[in-house]
Amino acid sequence: MSDCLFCKIANGDIPTEFLYEDDKVVAFKDIEPQAPHHILIIPKEHIDSALEINDANCDIPGHVFMVASKLAKELGFAQDGFRIVNNCGRDGGQTVGHLHFHILAGRYLQWPPG
Ligand code: AMP
Ligand code: ZN
Repeated sequence: MSDCLFCKIANGDIPTEFLYEDDKVVAFKDIEPQAPHHILIIPKEHIDSALEINDANCDIPGHVFMVASKLAKELGFAQDGFRIVNNCGRDGGQTVGHLHFHILAGRYLQWPPG
């Protein structure tokens, strides 16, 4: 989608340092980190939100979890633990309308979230 911020990041229109990239997803640092490690993993394909996951694209979430695991090991927070978050819709706190998964690590994360 031409006016989507995360499409622009994924396709290089907004220059961004990628921590990981393959044919399906990219990972980059969140601009407003909520933890010492705060990474976003997004599909290259535009998907509005988790509500739009269907038979044709349901490989994406599993792929994202695989990349999260890989990054956790590479960046050194696999042992201490981390959280994978997907915010969906208004009450879920989604502010960017392109499916994305937050990887948070590097401090103890409270539960339940606010
Ligand atoms: P959400 O609130 O779940 O939709 O998450 C959107 C996230 O995108 C927030 O954590 C923002 O800080 C982050 N964000 C917004 N713009 C950028 C950007 N240009 N680069 C990196 N992260 C961004
Ligand atoms: Zn998009």
